[in-house]
Amino acid sequence: MFRFLYSDIINWTAQFVTRTIESTTPERTEAPEPETPLERLEASVPGVLDFRGRKRTKSRGKSKGNRKWDKFDAITWHQTAVYFEDPETCLNMPVHAVIMPDGRVVLLHNPTTIMWHAHALNRKSIGIEIACMAEGIEGNNNTRNIPRKINPLTGKNWTKAEWLRKKPTMEATDAQIASALALARYYAELTEENEGSIAYQHTHRQGHSSRTADPGSRIFQKIVEPSSAELKHTIRYNWKRKSGNPIPKKWSDKAKARYNWRYD
Ligand SMILES: [Zn+2]
Repeated sequence: MFRFLYSDIINWTAQFVTRTIESTTPERTEAPEPETPLERLEASVPGVLDFRGRKRTKSRGKSKGNRKWDKFDAITWHQTAVYFEDPETCLNMPVHAVIMPDGRVVLLHNPTTIMWHAHALNRKSIGIEIACMAEGIEGNNNTRNIPRKINPLTGKNWTKAEWLRKKPTMEATDAQIASALALARYYAELTEENEGSIAYQHTHRQGHSSRTADPGSRIFQKIVEPSSAELKHTIRYNWKRKSGNPIPKKWSDKAKARYNWRYD
């Protein structure tokens, strides 16, 4: 009887100790390590909205053809020059991805889809838009890209001053900058996985004369230069295609070109 009690006590004690250890050990609830480029992107930005399979309602948002993974070699950066917070606004944008002001990434098309986003740079690059109204040279709102639009009250175009009053400058947010770096990483990994490779990062400015301020000095300095350094992509500072303009020295000490005839 004595022995019976003794062994029971040992058993109870053992069970109690086991239960106590179990109840004080934190449960393993961490997500598994992301394995694909998309999973890694999702893990590093506030959200990914995947519109790639959705039907477009305007022709500008539709594919302009397909290319193989080894037929493009660059990322081209843009600013939208209009401000919006609803991701649905992106549906018909002729570009591969848009980064929202809160840092969410909207994927619109695969890199193998040709989109008309950057004039002379379309065929060989992936286009990324940062949703903002950035200045061509940060701190100078005269270097904003001002759209032409009729003022319904006067029947005339809004003047530049009216525009700047109505739509104050909205530079890229810190969340957009962080997501842009993650998105460039995603495209680099995805392209490599499919036996292509990205060698360059361009700006829309380099592809057309009408895009002097696209994407602007802040995006160039906070996104294009750091991302290129990280991913070992080349920025061709003194290069342009067709009517485009090279990177201006107002954006980087490594550049030689003027911003335009007005703002050196
Ligand atoms: Zn652009």
